[in-house]
Amino acid sequence: MNKIQMTTPLVEMDGDEMTRILWKMIKDELILPFVDLKTEYYDLGLKCRNETDDKVTYDSAYATQKYGVAVKCATITPNAARVKEYDLKEMWKSPNGTIRAILDGTVFRAPIIVKGIEPCVKNWKAPITIARHAYGDVYKASEMKIPGAGKAELVYTDEAGNETRELIHEFKGPGIIQGMHNLNGSIESFARCCFNYALDTKQTIWFASKDTISKKYDHTFKDIFQEIFDAEYKEKFDAAGIEYFYTLIDDAVARVMKSSGGFIWACKNYDGDVMSDMLSSAFGSLAMMTSVLVSPDGTYEYEAAHGTVQRHYYKHLAGEETSTNSVATIFAWTGALRKRGELDNIPELSEFANKLEKATIDTIESGKMTKDLALITTLTDVTTLNSEDFIKAIRATLEQNL
Ligand code: NAP
Ligand code: MG
Repeated sequence: MNKIQMTTPLVEMDGDEMTRILWKMIKDELILPFVDLKTEYYDLGLKCRNETDDKVTYDSAYATQKYGVAVKCATITPNAARVKEYDLKEMWKSPNGTIRAILDGTVFRAPIIVKGIEPCVKNWKAPITIARHAYGDVYKASEMKIPGAGKAELVYTDEAGNETRELIHEFKGPGIIQGMHNLNGSIESFARCCFNYALDTKQTIWFASKDTISKKYDHTFKDIFQEIFDAEYKEKFDAAGIEYFYTLIDDAVARVMKSSGGFIWACKNYDGDVMSDMLSSAFGSLAMMTSVLVSPDGTYEYEAAHGTVQRHYYKHLAGEETSTNSVATIFAWTGALRKRGELDNIPELSEFANKLEKATIDTIESGKMTKDLALITTLTDVTTLNSEDFIKAIRATLEQNL
């Protein structure tokens, strides 16, 4: 069989622990035999980040801007224990944070739906994708404990030194205050990422906030979304047969529960944090969630939504068998290959990505799965496979389907 040829390299960001082990197995078993894979390789494993003073992370993000599509393995975000474990020069920052800051992107997370892993919400038939704004609000806030009676104000001083004040509260006794911000530029990027992604995936998009209560802060989000939609996207949405609509966050939550899925839900930073965990657990498992970072100028970085599965890695190191679910990492590869195929006009490459996804789903639906899924499936005739045999089973299904 002739291997599928590529023209532009994918930016390949290798990672840590158990997902690094899966990464190699996926390439060897599921991609290299079928695709003449071209990648520009960056080793984001913690050892290499430490050796390069984290330069490798920055370089991989710049390469993503250059080529447009990256695929990333899960990576360790170091804490004090990791500094000791890896003898780090510094507590390096989260690679995802660094890459997100450079690409100025929005993160889209969607569950992978298979028969036999049923969502808790019976009427959810198609995936619900969360688009989370990744800048500001409570994540970049200043806070103060108020010890006793006194006046708290918001003060803005412009460059000429003029002050604008807004009373927060006249305290009669102790309390707390918080000051948070966002940037019009960041909200505009967020809106464009959302609308582009909706067009890309041909799905209706909802955005919700609490503008009735927050008449300046949340209302600005609402206004910016509407202005950008009317000026730049309305006609394209009409042509694609999809919709944008705005509603209040509490109304959105009620509608989501009653919906059948198949849309994108754009969330402010905090709402996205909370709602994505609610959705992923209601749909079944974090190991069945895809995640893609999309920048407003149209670059894409695909990854799994879960971490490096440290506990399984230590078992693997101890020579014990693991049953780690590789589905989200496989879908990171297929997402990236399909996008590369679209951008470079190589339909065989996109078609291959679709077939690999189908083979993965078919394998699970035939009853062959890893332990995490075996524990929650509604299928009755189930074979629990180890990490490697699961990937080999997908290979067998793929060869049959091809
Ligand atoms: P984790 O890797 O997501 O794993 C937490 C637990 O969830 C695992 O112990 C396992 O449960 C289950 N799990 C997650 N993914 C699974 C899979 N593919 N197959 C089977 N079970 C899976 O989170 P963590 O252990 O808290 O974090 C480990 C490292 O990942 C940390 O250093 C963190 O910084 C990093 N991290 C990276 C990213 C990223 O790069 N995107 C995201 C989050 C965390 P059982 O042990 O019960 O089987
Ligand atoms: Mg969270």
